[in-house]
Amino acid sequence: MSTFDYAPAPESRAVVDIKPSYGLFINGEFVDGSGTSFKTINPATEEVLAEVAEASDADVDEAVKAARRAYTRVWSKMSGAERAKYLYRIARIIQERGRELAVLESIDNGKPIKESRDVDIPVVAAHFFYYAGWADKLEHSGYGSTPLGVAGQIIPWNFPLLMLAWKIAPALACGNTVVLKPAETTPLTALLFAEICQQADLPPGVVNIVTGAGETGRAIVSHPDVDKVAFTGSTEVGKAIARSVAGTDKKVTLELGGKAANIVFDDAPLDQAIEGIVNGIFFNQGHVCCAGSRLLVQESVADEVMERLKRRMATLRVGDPLDKNTDVGAINSAEQLAKIRELSQIGEDEGAERWSAPCDLPSNGYWFAPTVFTGVTQAHRIAREEIFGPVLSVLTFRTPSEAVEKANNTPFGLSAGVWTDKGSRILSMANRLRAGVVWANTFNKFDPTSPFGGYKESGYGREGGRHGLEGYLKTNEMGADS
Ligand code: NAP
Ligand code: MG
Repeated sequence: MSTFDYAPAPESRAVVDIKPSYGLFINGEFVDGSGTSFKTINPATEEVLAEVAEASDADVDEAVKAARRAYTRVWSKMSGAERAKYLYRIARIIQERGRELAVLESIDNGKPIKESRDVDIPVVAAHFFYYAGWADKLEHSGYGSTPLGVAGQIIPWNFPLLMLAWKIAPALACGNTVVLKPAETTPLTALLFAEICQQADLPPGVVNIVTGAGETGRAIVSHPDVDKVAFTGSTEVGKAIARSVAGTDKKVTLELGGKAANIVFDDAPLDQAIEGIVNGIFFNQGHVCCAGSRLLVQESVADEVMERLKRRMATLRVGDPLDKNTDVGAINSAEQLAKIRELSQIGEDEGAERWSAPCDLPSNGYWFAPTVFTGVTQAHRIAREEIFGPVLSVLTFRTPSEAVEKANNTPFGLSAGVWTDKGSRILSMANRLRAGVVWANTFNKFDPTSPFGGYKESGYGREGGRHGLEGYLKTNEMGADS
């Protein structure tokens, strides 16, 4: 634990104007909706932030109709260069209103302001800039240039605005229109994004935001006039979506869970590796599908790595997400906290050794101290199941082949990390690891130019880069090269 106190450095929340209640964003306007409403809270304080409309089946139908009209009459008729102007405009407004978006994201989600300010929002703007650049060059994409129509998009709560950008930017660039549902616990930045669409004079109906819970998501997925379903979330819901669209001609991309191996060899630069391990599992409270939640460390350096890691973990500042010094913020919801606690208890019951960073947790809100389990074996549930929180499981290995075997021994395949001084080993490991992304001597790096997606139960389809266009274009038509 630190031996001195830091002066608090809170970011002002005066920059955001949270309304007491929010409607649905359909056809360019905020409307009441016919259904009920729900509350979104600040997970760091349990304060109710706003009452948000819950979209019924009829509301989803209205949103899909608006999206279809906008698609047929306006958006699919517009040239790519014209569409790009709107995307560039949205990107610039996101930058201009970046502080407002970052503060609102931290309040509604619980993530530290330094992450929403320095990672989420800049990468959101970068996605819109990047795909704006593709809008008038689709014929060079390799996937043709014919849009699909109306895209139904469903996103989780861990990166609310970033997941929205990953979905909306390529969809619009390709000429599709959108009905998007944010997660129940984090709807506010999507609703602020709706205001940004108005500010950018985006034609009505091109983007529609319908808030709600799982039922609203189900209504989008099963709507007969939706041409494409893009989903990021749990493997369980992803499987249900895949079953529900089977036999239809809807195009589907699924970005699901993960249980990434972060592999540290004994020749790795250990100071950097420790930072990479910390970033891999404690970034965003570990609510990251590609989190490095399984540390595989070579036996010869295991003791030293653990000692250094614990020393570093003890310096992590857990607390107020709006404090600029905070490293680890609040757990997003009571349900997620219960899940993290349950799996951690199972880890203890299975015989793994638990160590948590000594830190004072606030009395209100949802918190979990950064935690590491040693003595974990492949059979343990904490090595197999996604905890989706600030909990690291540590396994050891002796040879590169053993590391590969352990890393691949999972139903998931989203990401992996390799820490070593040898370039040739990086290449051979990357070839043998069954993961969509392999980071070398770094971790959790996101860039709009780079495709992201998984193998096996981590889903299918890629988001980001040129590959991210494929999910939003008719690739089986004449003229497309797939
Ligand atoms: P989730 O329960 O699957 O929820 C994801 C979204 O789907 C939410 O908007 C949710 O609404 C909605 N939903 C729930 N049931 C549905 C249904 N039957 N039909 C359609 N939509 C439905 O996942 P989560 O707990 O929010 O997110 C955590 C999971 O997402 C983790 O497993 C993580 O690994 C994964 N994830 C993956 C990626 C990736 O890129 N691969 C990125 C981020 C997260 P509600 O909010 O109302 O529940
Ligand atoms: Mg919230």
